[in-house]
Amino acid sequence: MAVKGSRSGLKMLLTALTATGAAAGLWLLIQPSQSRKVTGDSKVVGLYNATGNDCFINCIVQALASLESLLDVLRSRKSFTPLNEALEEILHLLNGQTNRTQNVNKLVLKLNYAIGRSIQRSRQQDAHEFLQCLLETLQNQPRTTQFQALKQCYKVPFPWPFIGRMRQRVTCGRCLSVSDTYFSTLSLELSLPPESISKSWNNLSLSQLLQQNASDSIEGYHCTNCSKKRRVVNGSTVEPTSCTRSLTWTHLPSILILFLQRSYYDPHRGLERNNCRINYPRKLHASDTDARSYVLKAVVVHRGSPSFGHYSCYRTALGSWWLTSDSQTRKVSMSSVLDQSQKVCILFYERESFIAGVDP
Ligand SMILES: [Zn+2]
Repeated sequence: MAVKGSRSGLKMLLTALTATGAAAGLWLLIQPSQSRKVTGDSKVVGLYNATGNDCFINCIVQALASLESLLDVLRSRKSFTPLNEALEEILHLLNGQTNRTQNVNKLVLKLNYAIGRSIQRSRQQDAHEFLQCLLETLQNQPRTTQFQALKQCYKVPFPWPFIGRMRQRVTCGRCLSVSDTYFSTLSLELSLPPESISKSWNNLSLSQLLQQNASDSIEGYHCTNCSKKRRVVNGSTVEPTSCTRSLTWTHLPSILILFLQRSYYDPHRGLERNNCRINYPRKLHASDTDARSYVLKAVVVHRGSPSFGHYSCYRTALGSWWLTSDSQTRKVSMSSVLDQSQKVCILFYERESFIAGVDP
């Protein structure tokens, strides 16, 4: 299965949402996960690749099945929408006692209905775009009476573990005035350094990549403060200047999704893939001001070019790490999970405070 070309590399793309924040009080309504009874021959079940192109869906569904705080939320609002119910059902099967290979047909059917168009399974697709579509639809779709009543009761949005909030601060390079904007995010898209530069580094860590994406300089900035001052003095307009832009977490999500943008456009060769090595840790601190750490729960990798290849997913289940590639699944070591530095596309981290069991 192949991945289609993505957008040009922005420094960091935030998924702005109208929703704001999760409600801690509502977690009280959520029952803890029911863990699966593990036996010697227990095995994570796979997902059929019914169309030959389904790996962009299968890898995401397997990754989501590893996220305990998501499983709890889905279970607590199971009957809210058919899409919510279908996702809860397939994730339950992937974490259940069955040994039979499953499929994503029902989930895709309900998603198609919710968004009013068809996910093209016969065409090359991007796993991250599918993930964004699924999460945004789940986040925004609930319209049932039960959901509205609960929302009204608490006067706050229903907790959705992927939502984080960030502040973007722009500082004028001339007058040093500051302008703040606040965003909600479902995932962070991180641009990679050019491959030609990164080869000489050899060991770029995920923390370094996050730092690089958290600030940059922009030319051609039109500062309103400079303009106001100039008008007061002599009424003339002000030339654009440079500014610095920095991003800071104001609310960290329970589940942190990091998307590494490996596709870029070369004017001579067209769409290319950046194979820069990014070393990611099992435990991650996403903010200097928050001591709580995240634990790695799933890794989506892509082998191939920007226009053709195959997605698979390393995920936690049954107290171990597993490689799931459509219907094929096998137990793997932690070191092999962390050894995908050139192929990693999407990382799923979960806050330690939300993880009930013992991590593999
Ligand atoms: Zn200014």
